[in-house]
Amino acid sequence: MTDIVVLGSTNMDLVAYVEKAPLRGETVTGREFCTVPGGKGANQAVAAAHAGGTVSLIGAVGDDAFGGRLRSALEHSGVSTDHLRTVEGPSGTAHIVVDDEGGNSIVVVPGANGTVERLAPGDEGLIASADALLLQLEIPLAAVVAGARTARAHGVRTILTPAPAQPLPPDLFDATDLLVPNEHEATTLTGRTDPLQAAIALLEVVPEVVVTLGESGVLYAARGEEPVAVPAPQVTAVDSTGAGDTFVGALAVALGEERPVREALAWAATAAALSVQRPGASASMPHRSEIDAGYA
Ligand code: ADP
Repeated sequence: MTDIVVLGSTNMDLVAYVEKAPLRGETVTGREFCTVPGGKGANQAVAAAHAGGTVSLIGAVGDDAFGGRLRSALEHSGVSTDHLRTVEGPSGTAHIVVDDEGGNSIVVVPGANGTVERLAPGDEGLIASADALLLQLEIPLAAVVAGARTARAHGVRTILTPAPAQPLPPDLFDATDLLVPNEHEATTLTGRTDPLQAAIALLEVVPEVVVTLGESGVLYAARGEEPVAVPAPQVTAVDSTGAGDTFVGALAVALGEERPVREALAWAATAAALSVQRPGASASMPHRSEIDAGYA
């Protein structure tokens, strides 16, 4: 089994379903509301566990009511929380609006995630024994860089999702093996709107890039190779929250199994397409048997 460590955020997602998201200054009436465990770190951890990996999450939850629920939801999904700290104060929250076309807009309030500023004793040993370390940008950058460097020092593959979009320091690129931005993040990092141009530009700072393109699938680029486009399965999306995280979690598992890159990309795209057909982020992440059935 692929051994995966995720260093990242855990949030309670507060999700409102609306016909159309409000514009600035506008109030709209929603149809439904629910709370769902989320956070990019936790979502990638759950996606990888559902896809068949052995997964641990390094991060923090608050000592509020959400904290306990977040921890038990992770454990229920098969994610080890031995390295998930409980700190004083609120857990992270994400305030999500999902519209009738399955599009979303999100405000994240870091809460406990903001306290993850460095690795704790024991985290290095956990990272060292993994096949891959998954990173995102919803915890302080210093911890992300420390995690990536630790993984690199132990020869562990680092996979970075550069979200939320922001410029990144060179030392983080230096410790990243595979960068997985969506189109918007790829543009923020490179100033280029064309995904192929953005991917090529990113190869100057990391050896491998996957740009995710929503319903158009993904674009993979590696130094010295022809870029590869992998289409997304045609499906009816009801909620695209967490599609990128589902993709990355499944991709990390497939790459850890040493499956060929094209096959790993297509398998992960199958997982992501399954997830957008159901509401919620972590709740919508498919299990390995479903991904295999959809991929066949
Ligand atoms: P993010 O969720 O990070 O914004 P994307 O929207 O690019 O990232 O989605 C990630 C991946 O999820 C896509 O590359 C694709 O494989 C899959 N996906 C997203 N939306 C759809 C859709 N409507 N139909 C099928 N697959 C989708």
